[in-house]
Amino acid sequence: MQFADLAFPTPTRETLAARHAAIGALLDTDRAAALGEFDKARREYDSWSALVHLRFSQDTTDAAAKSAREYADTLAPYATELETALKRRLLADPDRAGLEAIAGAHTVRLWANDITTFDPIIAGDLEEESKLSARYTELLASARFEIEGQSVNLSGLAPYAEHAVRATRHEAERLRWGFFAEHREELDGIYDAMVKLRHGMALKLGDTSFTDLAYRRMRRLDYGPAEVARYREEVLKHVVPLVDSLLDRRRATNGWDSLCYWDEAFIDPDGNPKPIGDHDTLVAAAETMFDRMDPRLADFYRTLRDGGFMDLKNRPTKAGGGFCTSFPSVGAPFIFANFNGTHHDIGVFTHEMGHAFQAWESRNQPGIDQLWPTMESAEIHSMSLEFLTHPQMGLLVGDRAADRFRTMHLIASLSFLPYGVCVDHFQHQVYAKPDAPPAERHAMWQKLERLYMPWTYYGDLKHPTMGGRWQAKPHIYNGPFYYIDYTLALCCAMQFWVRSRKDPKGTLDAYVALCERGGSLPFSGLVESAGLISPFAPGALADVVREAQSFLDT
Ligand SMILES: [Zn+2]
Repeated sequence: MQFADLAFPTPTRETLAARHAAIGALLDTDRAAALGEFDKARREYDSWSALVHLRFSQDTTDAAAKSAREYADTLAPYATELETALKRRLLADPDRAGLEAIAGAHTVRLWANDITTFDPIIAGDLEEESKLSARYTELLASARFEIEGQSVNLSGLAPYAEHAVRATRHEAERLRWGFFAEHREELDGIYDAMVKLRHGMALKLGDTSFTDLAYRRMRRLDYGPAEVARYREEVLKHVVPLVDSLLDRRRATNGWDSLCYWDEAFIDPDGNPKPIGDHDTLVAAAETMFDRMDPRLADFYRTLRDGGFMDLKNRPTKAGGGFCTSFPSVGAPFIFANFNGTHHDIGVFTHEMGHAFQAWESRNQPGIDQLWPTMESAEIHSMSLEFLTHPQMGLLVGDRAADRFRTMHLIASLSFLPYGVCVDHFQHQVYAKPDAPPAERHAMWQKLERLYMPWTYYGDLKHPTMGGRWQAKPHIYNGPFYYIDYTLALCCAMQFWVRSRKDPKGTLDAYVALCERGGSLPFSGLVESAGLISPFAPGALADVVREAQSFLDT
């Protein structure tokens, strides 16, 4: 299978309508066959949509890719409308047990959730939401900076932001936040429009706030805002003091009077360990790494690499960040990243490989709804692989830097938790007060930042000093309430890490089995099936944090 050969027919309103009419007619005579056709149609539509969005991310300045994405975004609400109508009809059948016997009880629960998140009256709003999201992505992709004689984009600025020379780190942050300051009004405008639009959709669907709708859009069946709020409290209690002391230790080690924002990414006093080489070197070393870990991982990696299902190099016009997408009608995933020569290359590679491996391992799950789990579970697969590759790190950073890499990754993971819950708490506040003017949102962020990251000192960086740091976080714009997922998953991934230090083989087997289960269960079910303790269980976070602290102290 070759990525270059992938092509999916472009659907239109007419072809989609005809296909759904045929499925509807089949439903009158043969429910199982109709469900099979429904699944096939959704896989084909999703594969086409994934490819169109991927091509746009690969070159945000390609006019054809951009107009294809715009077309897909215009069509998406209509596809959702047809899909929702069919789910409604299936759920209206009094023979629920019969439906569950064919589609699976978990899938039926997901559908019952899904039909509450869409109504044709919000179709235009959804289209507008996609447009605003594309504007944000394009704006960030347009950023250009001149530093040390190089012209770089936001991803390309990252190596300078963790440079061993303090003045270079400061310069990188000065440039980065200068860009956000320059576009502050536009960024405020995009977000303000998004918040009001989302709140309006929630009201149209009968909710009182977007938060409830967002939880259902994320298909969270087994926890709500109250559980999430308690988890944030746990982070505040157990992680914030630890990170505070780690940062103070770093300040003392480096002999700084104060630890500034541009020092936060400089974790290792000898300089953050870097990959042993560029893209080609890493891609080659990764093969040996997976060979040493497990034949299932290694075989899959070769399939991905040899099929061209990876785009990891940074190019000027690529969208930022990293992600994994998949084409469910052919079973293949694709990983996207922007390598920049720092340890992030290893982080993003192992992370997206974890997602891709799960998508591959679960490809034989019976229906499309069971291929991918909800995102907090999906991030367990990705974040766990970041930790499970630890013993092989010598291959990627060199043997002498391997221990330092492991320590750095653990510190970075712990330091992420307070920021992650801050991003989440912020969004709960924003959507609770959708009419707040932009300045009030900046004030909300500042207050939360003082709570969760009391060490933060921005020095002369005006934009974040005035509460604007959140504007650099794409999830706040493009994936509302999808951020706590990383912090929940990290609590689970760190449990795998603790286990793997005692039992590497058994832990890897449990990890692979979890990947195979895909989205066949809700979060709590998947966590339990892997022998992990739910992050919502009292003491779960405190326990792994204690283990991490003892690792760092020894
Ligand atoms: Zn991820």
